[in-house]
Amino acid sequence: MSEENARAEMVRKQIIERQVHDSRVLEVISRIPRELFVPEPLRSRAYEDHPQPIGHNQTISQPYMVACMTELLQLAGDEKTLEIGTGSGYQTAVLAELCKRVISLERIPELAEEANQRLLDMGYCNVRVIVCDGSGGYPQESPYDRIIVTAASPHIPSLLLDQLSNGGRMVIPVGEETVQMLMCVEKNESGEITTHDYGQCVFVPLVGKYAWGALRNKEGDSETKKD
Ligand code: SAH
Repeated sequence: MSEENARAEMVRKQIIERQVHDSRVLEVISRIPRELFVPEPLRSRAYEDHPQPIGHNQTISQPYMVACMTELLQLAGDEKTLEIGTGSGYQTAVLAELCKRVISLERIPELAEEANQRLLDMGYCNVRVIVCDGSGGYPQESPYDRIIVTAASPHIPSLLLDQLSNGGRMVIPVGEETVQMLMCVEKNESGEITTHDYGQCVFVPLVGKYAWGALRNKEGDSETKKD
């Protein structure tokens, strides 16, 4: 099957049949060549219904998950969006097509470098990829109209809430390391927060000072004491 056909089938069977209907999201996912975001040996499997390894123990998210999270962001086109977890840059490309500006944070320099080059080669000029621990966001460019976290967090980091505009939305998987709830956090015009959950999901961990790093260190300490 050609890549165009595989992509069209993916959109139909994996995304529309599972009730993602935002036409802007569907149009962009129908157009972006996902095969360019997976390692060469996996290119023929780029449209399969699951995450794929991208090296460094990380994954490119399942296509449906990208569609679902992007739909939840409700992008109209003029937003500034913070993404935490650039990975392959596939979600970044989807965001770059649907909003004004994307700041994307990645802690693994090699992945950030590859993704940045790929996005430049594809002609995206409204993306900035930054190598850092994104668990505390990136206050220098805040506030953000939208925040998307594509790694699993043990809680909603309060620093990210601080960096969200009034009237903004954040999508983040929150829970245990093995399974999480996909949460959508809204901040209204008065700055009040409400959260909704959208079912279970599984992401690689958000490793950092304000996420699993902090908890891992604490666990490590207590194990040291036990010894
Ligand atoms: N949206 C990406 C998903 C990548 S997986 C894609 O579809 O390709 C999650 C990514 O989050 C990994 O690349 C991982 O290195 C990164 N990550 C984990 N913790 C992070 C942190 N604290 N700051 C920035 N990036 C982080």
